[in-house]
Amino acid sequence: MINIVLFGPPGSGKGTQAQNLIEKFNLKQISTGDLFRYNMKNDTDLGKLAKSYIDKGELVPDQVTTDMLVDEVKKPTDAAGFIFDGYPRTANQTAELERIVKEVLNSEISVCLSLVVDDEILVERLLKRGETSGRTDDSNEEIIRNRIKEYYTKTAEVAELYKQQGKYVEINGVGEIDEISQKLFAEVEKIK
Ligand code: AMP
Repeated sequence: MINIVLFGPPGSGKGTQAQNLIEKFNLKQISTGDLFRYNMKNDTDLGKLAKSYIDKGELVPDQVTTDMLVDEVKKPTDAAGFIFDGYPRTANQTAELERIVKEVLNSEISVCLSLVVDDEILVERLLKRGETSGRTDDSNEEIIRNRIKEYYTKTAEVAELYKQQGKYVEINGVGEIDEISQKLFAEVEKIK
């Protein structure tokens, strides 16, 4: 199995690259942010609870998030592995993910791929996206800078844990989309 933790700040091209990895290696993507948004849209109990945190820009408590993730990992799939997107975000979640992948899939996290893009380029890309996406959080430079700062503060400890395990790989996220995909593919080929 190939189990990838995909890291990347807002604007790093993570969505596009996740899509290319899924197609290339037949993976299933699990995005905790998407799962919360789905639950909020359908007004489920979980959605209502998550909304009270997400609206404040806070993390949803670990237990609720992890339970939701387990349900998703347990669903039958013919994929060759998973891309975890937006999880883990804390040291506790990192340990939980290791446990879940072992217990449910009898496997392990293969690699943590981290897309690296200079802050100034991220701001530029997001402001440009904001012109057409209609996302209010993409149209204000101050909010954009805060989201980027938030990302680094939250993920630093998770990155450190994967570094200690020798599973952390940084990829330059600036350049042609295909060129970046090829670099990611090469890293996945190494662990196949
Ligand atoms: P995202 O789309 O990954 O940026 O997630 C949107 C929001 O969902 C985050 O700002 C958090 O409030 C919540 N969220 C997503 N993933 C997690 C997680 N692993 N742990 C806690 N909260 C999360």
